[in-house]
Amino acid sequence: MEQQVSTSHVEAAQRILADTVDALRDIEVMLEKHSAIDCDGRAGHLDLITKMLVGGGVDMFYRGTYLRIPLARLGPWLRDPAVSAARNFGVEKTAFGQWSDISNEQGVGSTVQACGYPGCQMTKTIIFEDPAQMAAAERSKSSGLWFCHHHRLAAWQKSGVLGDKFVEILAQMNMMPGASRTKLAATKQDMEFLESIGLGRVTQVSKRGATITSKYYATESGVAYLDKL
Ligand SMILES: [Zn+2]
Repeated sequence: MEQQVSTSHVEAAQRILADTVDALRDIEVMLEKHSAIDCDGRAGHLDLITKMLVGGGVDMFYRGTYLRIPLARLGPWLRDPAVSAARNFGVEKTAFGQWSDISNEQGVGSTVQACGYPGCQMTKTIIFEDPAQMAAAERSKSSGLWFCHHHRLAAWQKSGVLGDKFVEILAQMNMMPGASRTKLAATKQDMEFLESIGLGRVTQVSKRGATITSKYYATESGVAYLDKL
């Protein structure tokens, strides 16, 4: 629904704009005559103004995020905030518009991904907080692979496939042998699953009988699985 903008806000904006336009006209004249100003001792002021125009920016709260708009791009931003904001997130304006439509005031939205096992109705929710995350969630939904906890073993036993998350963890284990679970961004259950199907192994470092750290490695079968992808 179109938001109502209050008359007092519009009037305040008009006053600020008129004042700013006057100041900008003065600056325009100053910049045109900059050699003359250099001579009358106002070089410091000129320096300040040019630095502000070239390197300055405005912080805007837009769709749940603070964006810094450089003054150099303030014109395009004022004409069409969505185009500038989309560029800021590295997405097209249409993708930005979709995110605006389906996310809440804070920019948070969600989509669901279905279990890849034939006939399964289970879904998982993917939360996104900006348009770039939304695009990644949509990619995962359309071309990614996820199996619910009932089917990840069945999918492995029947077709020898892993969901994307496990492929990612396995690839990390292969790249960083001996990494901790935190470093792999994996849960205890994730690691137990990879161990149970022989793709990962764990070694425990203990001191005086207490386990201090667990180090995770991809097994030969784990590496062979990655090589086949
Ligand atoms: Zn399932």
